Amino acid sequence: MKRIVKEIINLDIGKVEEKVSLKKNTTYKVGGNALAFVYPNDIDSLIKLLKYLRNNNIKHMILGNGSNVVFKDTTYNGIIIKLDILNKYKIKENIIIAESGVNLIPLSFKAIDLSLEGLEFACGIPGSVGGCLYMNAGAYKSDMSNIVKSVKALTPDFKIKIFKNKDLEFGYRDSFFKHHKDYIVLEVTFELKKGKKEELIELANDRKRRRLESQPLEYPSAGSVFRNPPDNFSGKLIEDLGLKGYSIGGAKVSEKHANFIINYNNATASDIRKLIKYVHTRVKKKYDIDLFIEQEFID
Ligand SMILES: Cc1cc2nc3c(=O)[nH]c(=O)nc-3n(C[C@H](O)[C@H](O)[C@H](O)COP(=O)(O)OP(=O)(O)OC[C@H]3O[C@@H](n4cnc5c(N)ncnc54)[C@H](O)[C@@H]3O)c2cc1C
Repeated sequence: MKRIVKEIINLDIGKVEEKVSLKKNTTYKVGGNALAFVYPNDIDSLIKLLKYLRNNNIKHMILGNGSNVVFKDTTYNGIIIKLDILNKYKIKENIIIAESGVNLIPLSFKAIDLSLEGLEFACGIPGSVGGCLYMNAGAYKSDMSNIVKSVKALTPDFKIKIFKNKDLEFGYRDSFFKHHKDYIVLEVTFELKKGKKEELIELANDRKRRRLESQPLEYPSAGSVFRNPPDNFSGKLIEDLGLKGYSIGGAKVSEKHANFIINYNNATASDIRKLIKYVHTRVKKKYDIDLFIEQEFID
């Protein structure tokens, strides 16, 4: 394993950190170490890294802001690729072109500041542009699919491909990329509308206030655990089972919002995983509803 890290350093493609804590790099604040985190300097460096990893059959994945993933407590025996250096964006009139490492929250506030309407649903979503596109992240009856014009991605054979919105297979928290893990989102073009700045600020402030009231943002979490089933709310189903406050180890079903699991007391990844599975089983048993887990378990 030391050899792999050494060989990656010798590729001279960007910063390499050995034995990095996943606990420190995910919003649940759980997980063991990864063999290494690599921060490619640019797309050519990324391609060089991917070729090396693939030729040597080394496990790897892209990690955005780690706000929708649950690793294990044991070592992730592979390479975590971080696209933090791809963090530039350009705005021309109502078009924003953002690289995948851009954080969506500051970008949505920037759009509001420029009186651009459409991204305000994302003011509370702590993901990267790449991670949010992959998830088709959304809130308040909107999501990425409503504002994405096109996406620039790296294909498995290292070509650059432009996807138009209609080719992105968007669905509820779903996109083409969720089903094609060997494609990498490099850049997203958003098409927004001209709006009224004061109204957009008011909306963002009102939603922030409501989120603070209704979500346990004072604890580490990864947002909603389960997708809402058709015509129902996961939070309500879980609350009606009396599971608010139910805990396993340091993980607990939030008392504020039953569809959030929080790390309230030094939880392990195993505590979080067990609690998610426990809630899932209880809902299935009582209502015969197979809740879909929105968060990703990574082994
Ligand atoms: C407090 C809180 C509130 C939240 N609220 C919401 C909400 O309102 N709505 C909502 O939808 N989500 C919400 N989330 C969940 C989360 O922020 C989103 O799912 C977000 O899209 C995850 O982005 P990320 O960059 O953190 O992705 P990560 O968790 O780092 O990664 C998720 C997946 O995306 C893949 N990925 C990341 N970048 C790329 C890329 N460039 N190319 C290809 N694949 C990539 C990863 O490999 C991984 O499989 C919330 C989370 C928290 C902690």
